[in-house]
Amino acid sequence: MNTKAKRIKELNDRLKLKCPRLWKDSQPYFSCVGEGWWDLIYRLCVKLEPLVSDKAGSAIGQIKEKFGTLRFYLLFSESVEMYNFIREAEEESAKTCEECGAPGKQREINHWVKTSCERCHKKRLIGNVNSRLELLVKFGFPCEEEEWSILIKEIADERNNSSESE
Ligand SMILES: [Zn+2]
Repeated sequence: MNTKAKRIKELNDRLKLKCPRLWKDSQPYFSCVGEGWWDLIYRLCVKLEPLVSDKAGSAIGQIKEKFGTLRFYLLFSESVEMYNFIREAEEESAKTCEECGAPGKQREINHWVKTSCERCHKKRLIGNVNSRLELLVKFGFPCEEEEWSILIKEIADERNNSSESE
């Protein structure tokens, strides 16, 4: 078992004990979002647990990332109090790096929004450039000229933004 799968299992087991009504099954919900949000989700579940009625069946529908923020769905209609807790966690996710949990913000690369800190964003940017260069090496000239100029502009913008914030 690799270490990430092991960490997911540990967290699932912890939640089944701590939140037995909310966290009934062992669905690997955490594998759908980055590890930087796991603590946030855990804290949310602990807040929701006392508000969940003790009825049969699963309570969590889905946990995922959409447009750079957390989405947390229950299988029953939540009370206003629960809704507010969920909304708070979703808002917190918009300021928390999904990768590492450090303070972050929503950033876009290739029309793909992710909430990330400065460091993880740069890693992502480099990964993006590397994957394009790999394609270039493999297939010759894979990208439209326009795509390259967008990429170069993104890197230049990013550099300007970083020096502004320093
Ligand atoms: Zn990060």
